[in-house]
Amino acid sequence: MSRGLRQLGRLRAACSLGTRPSSFGLSQSRGLTGALPELTKDRYPHVKRGDYATLDENHLRFFTELLGTNRIVTDPSQCEGYNVDWIKNVRGYSQCVLRPKTTEEVSRILAFCNEHRIAVCPQGGNTGLVGGSVPVFDEVVLSTSLMNEIISTDDTSGVLVCQAGCILESLDTHLADHGLMMPLDLGAKGSCQIGGQCGTVLGLEAVKANGEILDCLSTLKKDNTGYHLKHLFIGSEGTLGIVTKVAIHCPPKPKAMNLAFLGLDSFESVLKTLKKAKHELGEILSSCEFIDERSLDLVTSRLKLKSPLAVHPFYMLIETHGSNNDHDEEKLNTFLENVMAEGLVLDGTATNEVSKMKNIWELRERITEGLPLEGYVFKYDISLPIESFYSLVPAMKERLGESAVRICGYGHLGDGNLHLNICVKEFTQDVLKRIEPFVYEFTSKLKGSISAEHGIGFRKPKYIHYSKSHTSIELMKQLKTMMDPNGILNPYKVLPS
Ligand SMILES: Cc1cc2nc3c(=O)[nH]c(=O)nc-3n(C[C@H](O)[C@H](O)[C@H](O)COP(=O)(O)OP(=O)(O)OC[C@H]3O[C@@H](n4cnc5c(N)ncnc54)[C@H](O)[C@@H]3O)c2cc1C
Repeated sequence: MSRGLRQLGRLRAACSLGTRPSSFGLSQSRGLTGALPELTKDRYPHVKRGDYATLDENHLRFFTELLGTNRIVTDPSQCEGYNVDWIKNVRGYSQCVLRPKTTEEVSRILAFCNEHRIAVCPQGGNTGLVGGSVPVFDEVVLSTSLMNEIISTDDTSGVLVCQAGCILESLDTHLADHGLMMPLDLGAKGSCQIGGQCGTVLGLEAVKANGEILDCLSTLKKDNTGYHLKHLFIGSEGTLGIVTKVAIHCPPKPKAMNLAFLGLDSFESVLKTLKKAKHELGEILSSCEFIDERSLDLVTSRLKLKSPLAVHPFYMLIETHGSNNDHDEEKLNTFLENVMAEGLVLDGTATNEVSKMKNIWELRERITEGLPLEGYVFKYDISLPIESFYSLVPAMKERLGESAVRICGYGHLGDGNLHLNICVKEFTQDVLKRIEPFVYEFTSKLKGSISAEHGIGFRKPKYIHYSKSHTSIELMKQLKTMMDPNGILNPYKVLPS
């Protein structure tokens, strides 16, 4: 403890862990503030509108009869919020947003759109970061926002069944009353919907492009009967079907939670600290996040958040979840003493007070919110082998020099998932050409993935080959043709044309 790990040893045994830190900053309203981005069709003129129908009176009459006037948005100013993505990188010009409430309504909409070749863009909370959730041209937006019913919660099996439009944070709040929690957590939890995050589901219900309803809503933990069709929808980003319901396996809410925030002076120390955390914290280690100095500077300077630590080149957040606070606290303290004694960690703070944990998590989770305040953001979500995790950030700094306002890296270190962000005053094709395809080539050479968790969306289809083989891409194309022969579902996304 000689290096002054501030506030360590102050973990309270009897803390209240009744609530998890809740979300902040992300508004659920579709109101837009600030300047609008250029239309996608103008910024990316090489992408041509497909041979789809243009909406006419007959189409609108069908939608109105099905949903009533209240659940169709056609007023251009109200449509705008559904046309622009969260980081304001892309903008479509849809003039029609449909807001079904039931699977049957989704089914009838898709059957009609398929018959009339009307392109459809499925949209959840519209917090996606790769331009997948908004139209490229005039696709009809199918918003799942009103599909927000919780269908059942089983306290014993921990299985929750709900509609796809339920907001992540609302589900977590609901589960807390049952002693359970959602198996995933992210900065956009106050707005993003569960249908947009199917990686963790036990089962799901989806509507195919032709309107057929596919029931894979199994709540069984084990069910090995034939092909696991639900997995087709994971990573499909609305291009194979619209997910209408999901069944999720939810773990019990932990009785003890502790969080440490650490300052380090080299990436080598970060890696050594990660390794020690895995070995010494074992089963209670629940997350290990990474922030570099430029990322932390963004939230302290732009969003005026206060960091409890002095300035360091690197920071780590280490959270533990367990069932016995005395046990967890002792383990965490021993680990922290060891990493301090070895000189890996220079400074740190640890707490199990909910409000303090929330403040520390804000430093990590609000970085995404601070980025657009710098201008235009080129955002990359990369998986890299852990020893090369940070290598892309200095490589990009060297390549771009003064032409970027800020280049920073943060992410889910425990998963090898780096969020590289390049902020420039405004979008130019010149900067884009200096970044892409370099960023993907660099990642591919290191055997990483060009999309760790955000998906391919509109921005990356032509680069998917950096992470997937020709054979895989061809099979994906065949599946797309089979499931959506008219290509009405989320065109221009995920697969290269
Ligand atoms: C501040 C912030 C932090 C974030 N942190 C993370 C993070 O830590 N990890 C992470 O993975 N992502 C993160 N994201 C990205 C994003 O929030 C997630 O990808 C989220 O899962 C998207 O959910 P959504 O409801 O907003 O979906 P949308 O953005 O509306 O849609 C995303 C994609 O899914 C499709 N889709 C949506 N609903 C359905 C449906 N019912 N059926 C079929 N397709 C559908 C859309 O067409 C689109 O292609 C973050 C975003 C922000 C703004």
